[in-house]
Amino acid sequence: MTNPMIALVTGGNKGIGREIAAQLAQLGHTVIIGARSLERGEQTAAELRAAGGSVTSVALDVTDAASVVAAAERVTAEHGRLDALINNAGISQQPGADFAGQLPRTADVDHVRSVFETNVFGVITVTSAFLPLLRRSDSPRIVNVSSSAGSLASISDFGNTDPIALGYVPSKTALTAVTMMYARDLVSERILVNAVCPGFVATDLNGHRGLSTPTEGARSAVTMATIPADGPTGTFTDVNGPVAW
Ligand code: NDP
Repeated sequence: MTNPMIALVTGGNKGIGREIAAQLAQLGHTVIIGARSLERGEQTAAELRAAGGSVTSVALDVTDAASVVAAAERVTAEHGRLDALINNAGISQQPGADFAGQLPRTADVDHVRSVFETNVFGVITVTSAFLPLLRRSDSPRIVNVSSSAGSLASISDFGNTDPIALGYVPSKTALTAVTMMYARDLVSERILVNAVCPGFVATDLNGHRGLSTPTEGARSAVTMATIPADGPTGTFTDVNGPVAW
């Protein structure tokens, strides 16, 4: 296993993020759960501590720059560095909004923008704030939780009967592209940046329609969060290997 790391999981209070936090803690790593509700984050952290993990929580709303900066300051004060940033927080649609706002024919641009705010711009905001801390690590890694739903091959497949969500689907296309750009730009600093797809996982995000469990869904992110310092960068994988994007 890799040396004990300090890892931050955004949206770590439930779903796949909670399981990423749990599995990293089980491997002996120190985990910080970023949650937009500190109460929910601390509740999850307490549960994982009760299971023997070294887990704390920090208030972190990826769409609120001040909250992200405050979280980075707190991690700096308490840990002094970050070894793994797992950008997991994501939404499938604007809370309370009609799904029709995501269909191209009835698109509501505010709805689409709100999904991009969390799934794309939120990742950039968090990454910018935590890069200085990652640079203090001997073995820094960033894992972005993307989705094969954003694969261009999948989007352009006329036989694909999945709902065409103008917010969620291209937000993940963009996130995977953003991941590759960070990977290329940071390769000279030996910061590994990879995207993963958790698979179709039963969580609140999809009304628990997913076919696999959060425990299974967390594995691809945990794998890429724990790769060695000379491991891959600029990849997009799921548990079965490379994902076409
Ligand atoms: P959940 O809805 O169960 O969890 C999403 C998490 O993100 C929650 O902790 C939520 O916090 C948090 N979150 C949402 N918005 C923000 C924000 N502005 N700031 C901070 N945290 C936020 O979904 P999943 O566990 O399924 O999703 C996790 C990731 O996996 C997402 O990026 C999703 O797109 C991706 N994914 C999921 C798939 C699936 O089948 N489930 C498939 C492919 C990718 P809160 O509790 O406050 O709402």
